[in-house]
Order: sequence, then C-alpha cells, then structure tokens
Amino acid sequence: MRRKYIVGNWKMNGHITSLHEAQAIEKAAHAHPGVDVALCPPFTLVMAMAKLCPQLGVGGQDCHTLDKGAFTGSVSADMLVDCGAKLAIVGHSERREYSHESNEMVRNKASAALGAGLDVIICVGEPLSVREAGDAETYVLGQVAQSLPMALLHAPKRVAIAYEPIWAIGTGLTASTDEIAAMHGAIRGALGSAANDVRILYGGSVTPDNAAEILATSDVDGALVGGASLSAAKFVPIIAAGEGASNT
Ligand code: PEP
Repeated sequence: MRRKYIVGNWKMNGHITSLHEAQAIEKAAHAHPGVDVALCPPFTLVMAMAKLCPQLGVGGQDCHTLDKGAFTGSVSADMLVDCGAKLAIVGHSERREYSHESNEMVRNKASAALGAGLDVIICVGEPLSVREAGDAETYVLGQVAQSLPMALLHAPKRVAIAYEPIWAIGTGLTASTDEIAAMHGAIRGALGSAANDVRILYGGSVTPDNAAEILATSDVDGALVGGASLSAAKFVPIIAAGEGASNT
C-alpha cells in the first residue's frame, strides 16, 4: 500500500517571514496522519524550516551531482542532509529548460541524492507541442527510462516520480483525469519490479478545487504542488484531499 504524498515546491519564493506558513502546514500534516507531507523551499530556508517544522519532510528543489568542489552557486545532496533536508526534487521542467539539464544529469542528481540518504522526486513531463502531436507517452517514458538511477532498484520506496505536463505548470490548466490515469498507468507499467513501491505524483495547477478528483485518479499517489503550496490556506485543503483519497 503506497501512502499518499503531498509535496509543496516553493520555487524561488519565500523569506524567513514566510515560515509561519510552513508551521501552519506542519500542524495540518499532524492532523492528517494518513498522508506524507513535504515542503521544498528555496535553499536559503531549508535549515530554518527543518528546525522549526521537524514533522514535515523538508527538501531541496535541486542538488548537484557531486559532493563538493568548484561549482559556484551549487549545493550538494550531502549539504542538504547537513542542514536537515530529507528529500530533493530533481529534474523539474524549469531546471531542464532554464539550466539545460539533460536526462543524464537528472539521473546523476537522483543517484547523488539517494547516495546521500535523501528521498528523491524525479520530475518528468511533456511540452504542449509534444502532447498535441500525440507523442506525450513516448516522450515521458523516454524521460523515465533515462532519468531513473539504477540505485532506485535498491530503494524504490525512497523514490517518487512526478508527472508534470509542462503546459499545466503554473498555467491554471490541468490534464484531464483520463490523461493523468493513462500517463500514470504507462509510467507504472515501465517500472518493472519497482512498480509497487515507487510513488507517482501528479503536478500542474493542483488547487484545493481539483485536488480531490486528481488524487482519487487511478495510479495517482500524490501531488507536487507549486503555487498553491505557498500558503497554508490553499495547501492544507490539498493535504486533507490526500487523506480523503487514501480512505476511499
Ligand atoms: C510545479 O512547479 O511543480 C507545479 C506543479 O507548479 P503549479 O502547481 O504552480 O502548477
């Protein structure tokens, strides 16, 4: 049985003054013990949030492939662990696009995260042009095949895949539940012996209004939430929807 996993990605948002939102979210997580809840703030807040909210999984939004070295501006998985992180997101489409991250880089980052003891969320998802051409499944399964590390086979419970159609991220558009079920089923089918343990999350304009329906969709084990994770007022109902979907 896979527990529902609700993860917030604050992207480049949030200051010390935003930590009260994380505290309110932690309180809600405590009130909904049937779901796993995590928040990934900017690196600058990881340590403070991890200290303030010990019952939340606090994570990074990226990590380097290596432990240390001359990589100005980068943060290693080991450094994330050092400041209290429990997980890292890798391969978000914004990093694939703006930082030109290849599937190979994403795979190496995922290996580094697992090696350092972090859980990992590996993001995949197709652009609109690919969906419109009817090639979404081939494209996403290609990303899955090339972005997943071999180490996954030894630790499938520590790995989640986030299916995030790029055209749905931050746009207010969501994939239909039929599209989500079809893609999640295809991803699950590609996971071989890890299929029962790896959680597959949906991401892309998840809100309090659509969360219950999405989280009840077959093969959806949780959600990766951007905009709606910035405030407890929006994120807490999504956590509650996760628990509701776990109980059905
Ligand atoms: C994301 O950035 O991972 C995301 C899904 O964003 P949003 O929920 O804002 O679409």
